[in-house]
Amino acid sequence: MLKPRKPVCEMPEYHSPLCDPVLDLRLDMNESTVGCSPRVLEKLRTLDAKTLALYPSREQGESIVANFLGLNPSEVLLTNGADEAIDLLCRAYLDPEDEIILVTPAFTMYEVFASATGARIVPVAAEEDLAFPTARVVQAVTPRTRIIVITNPNNPTGLAAERTDILKVIESAPNTAVLLDEAYFDFCGKTLLDKLGKLPNLFIVRTFSKAYGLAGLRVGVLAGPEGQLSILRRLCPPFNLNVFALECLREALDDRQFIQDYVKQTIASREWLRSQLESLGLKCWPSETNFLLVQFGPLKKIVLQGMNKHGIALRDRPDCEGCIRISIGTKAEMERLVSTLQGILYQPQVSSAQGRGK
Ligand code: PMP
Repeated sequence: MLKPRKPVCEMPEYHSPLCDPVLDLRLDMNESTVGCSPRVLEKLRTLDAKTLALYPSREQGESIVANFLGLNPSEVLLTNGADEAIDLLCRAYLDPEDEIILVTPAFTMYEVFASATGARIVPVAAEEDLAFPTARVVQAVTPRTRIIVITNPNNPTGLAAERTDILKVIESAPNTAVLLDEAYFDFCGKTLLDKLGKLPNLFIVRTFSKAYGLAGLRVGVLAGPEGQLSILRRLCPPFNLNVFALECLREALDDRQFIQDYVKQTIASREWLRSQLESLGLKCWPSETNFLLVQFGPLKKIVLQGMNKHGIALRDRPDCEGCIRISIGTKAEMERLVSTLQGILYQPQVSSAQGRGK
């Protein structure tokens, strides 16, 4: 019988949350609910048949992004979403039985791509308050460790690690690739981009899927040492980015005002939501991203189901007990979320179970 490779057969199944058309407010994927800059849409409308007939040139896009990041084009590889950057790193550095260190709870795709190579996942649990476990990550390094993933700020916790702690990990494992995932950089502003090329094992991943509102276009960035990237390019399909994505990059990056306004509004909505949830007696972790991790305890299932009934999708996080991850939308969307939540929590059977009155 025809069988895929053993590590592939043994991979855990990953199901993307279903796009249920009844759910009109999607707060489960950390997407922008506002969308992209109008300048990107305008650009898309100008594309003609000739442009679509030709294979896209990624190199031009890499110059634009490198210039924006203050890097050389040789230090930048554009990928089909940050997902592809993670996949490339796993395929480039992991042999069967090699080790990859993941701080848990973690973004799911690291495990998916690493498992496919036959590597061993070495989970290191976050501290009790979900902070980055610097000392235990350093201790977990063995001669077989080929990749350490640091997501900063982390998904699903929203917490950022200290720069000195990240540097400690990078410097403690010079023969290990450190995948520093800065997918939520725009909401937080903390980066190690200034260290790129100076630390020979540092790779930084970014995405246009969050603050830029372009998750549907699929654009990610893998920045790393020139010598390493020149090898990784051999693994990467030459036309991995489509022409729509490449044509829009300049407009997306040039509209700084749009990103600044969106980030400012998202942070304000996030902090408003956090204060509302806390006043309902719910624990939230302080977030530096466009989402909040919220502890609902035994109410989690009722809340997820109740929200779905009202057209709102939230993300269950079974890896954080009793927790739901909520993406941040506009103030009006957050108001709808809070009033729906109040309706659910103050149903007689729920409030009596919790000893809550109206
Ligand atoms: N890294 C992290 C931490 C993420 O949360 C996500 C998306 N949720 C990604 C990478 C993947 O992003 P992309 O859409 O660019 O593939």
